[in-house]
Amino acid sequence: MAEPIRPGATLGILGGGQLGRMIAVAAAQLGIRTHAYCPDAQSPAFDVASAGTVAAYEDEDALRRFAGAVDLVTYEFENVPERTAAIVAPLRPLRPGVKALATAQDRLVEKTFVAALGIPVAPFRAVGSEADLAEALADLGTPAILKTRRFGYDGKGQVRIEAGDGPGEAWAQLGGAPAIVEGFVPFAFEVSIVAARGPDGAFAAYEPCLNEHRGGILRTTRLPSGLTDAEGEAAAALARAIADALDYVGVLTVELFVVEEAGGRRFVVNEMAPRVHNSGHWTIEGAECSQFEQHVRAVCGWPLGSTRRTGTVAMRNLIGDEIDAWRDLLAEPGLHLHHYGKTRARPGRKMGHVTVVTP
Ligand code: AMP
Repeated sequence: MAEPIRPGATLGILGGGQLGRMIAVAAAQLGIRTHAYCPDAQSPAFDVASAGTVAAYEDEDALRRFAGAVDLVTYEFENVPERTAAIVAPLRPLRPGVKALATAQDRLVEKTFVAALGIPVAPFRAVGSEADLAEALADLGTPAILKTRRFGYDGKGQVRIEAGDGPGEAWAQLGGAPAIVEGFVPFAFEVSIVAARGPDGAFAAYEPCLNEHRGGILRTTRLPSGLTDAEGEAAAALARAIADALDYVGVLTVELFVVEEAGGRRFVVNEMAPRVHNSGHWTIEGAECSQFEQHVRAVCGWPLGSTRRTGTVAMRNLIGDEIDAWRDLLAEPGLHLHHYGKTRARPGRKMGHVTVVTP
């Protein structure tokens, strides 16, 4: 049995983005030091983590030194190579574990896993060739969405296929990468559920939040979501079933399509993220314990915090040059600005976010 984690311990974070940055801020508040590991020296987490390693995820020596310098390890993005996780996991507790990472980083594995729990997902087929795609489309119909199995985010690695489109062009657009094709889910709206599970199985979920995407990128998150309390509980139960099946430790996010039918509304799982999530940023000011603090509490094996919402909440991402409005945004009373400190504002890049909570 490993020593219990106490304040003063160091949490290693694989990945250096804004999620790692916000984990580091929350960790510091609880007396936990952080050590970020990322190949890109310009990464936002390095500004605030107590220590940093700039090295490739394939650099086994650097990974071993990193593991030796920390008490436990988490990650802030799901494309950490499985091999990287496998090097670190025997040396220090890795939370969430390798299984959660391996499941979430491959859409085929993830959808198969969720469906096997009896939880609805979009109808899907594995696609390894143009012929596979043609066959799957004959089965699933159109519209359909072709997605790479790996490395897709913010709508990247996806092609929508409409009636009359042949499979050839979509297949070529993804460059022949292993893929899945999904039937289009005619959802009324999209929500996500951010939840946490501790090493002892303790579980806490925030209420579902309403997410609006534009161009494949999360635009706004709002609460209340419009779902009933009973629907919120059903969403939490679904997240708990996934977390329990993965023996998950940390914050987990499940994105859901809400489908409205004659008999009522039902959920279809879109995807899961084995980490804190953009749609949970509202919790920093809008909940009694933020998702970042909750993640630190969960991975340290500490009591989980209250997920209670403190008001009506709206969170908006600042994408690309929208961050240039920081001065005007700061002048708005009650608006909380988060600037990720990224030096270059590329189009489509998440540069910061703003949150307003109305009690
Ligand atoms: P993803 O990267 O899989 O989360 O997809 C990005 C966005 O594309 C989702 O948030 C949805 O708005 C849309 N989308 C993805 N898959 C489907 C689907 N099977 N049916 C309808 N819309 C989808």
